[in-house]
Amino acid sequence: MSIKFAKRLVDKTGQKFGRLTANNYNYDSRMWECSCDCGNHISVNAQNLSNGRTKSCGCAKEEFRRERLKQMWKDGTLKAKGSPYLLSLINQWENHNE
Ligand SMILES: [Zn+2]
Repeated sequence: MSIKFAKRLVDKTGQKFGRLTANNYNYDSRMWECSCDCGNHISVNAQNLSNGRTKSCGCAKEEFRRERLKQMWKDGTLKAKGSPYLLSLINQWENHNE
């Protein structure tokens, strides 16, 4: 690995990528050890980190999915296809709001 390339990688240390903060580059696995805003620690493929593919440990995706389901619940489109799992989730939200 050239010094220039190595320096470019090292320069990401401490940078934020979405919810992730690059802490340390592992040269053996070519993965960035990152900490997520939610407190999780994950290793991310260097390429996925720099091209913005990976922006969280997965929690952002989960939140996005929940928000979308909540919206569907609010506008009534969710009721028709409510599965027991979804209904239990909705019950949780409703209880939480009370
Ligand atoms: Zn997270």
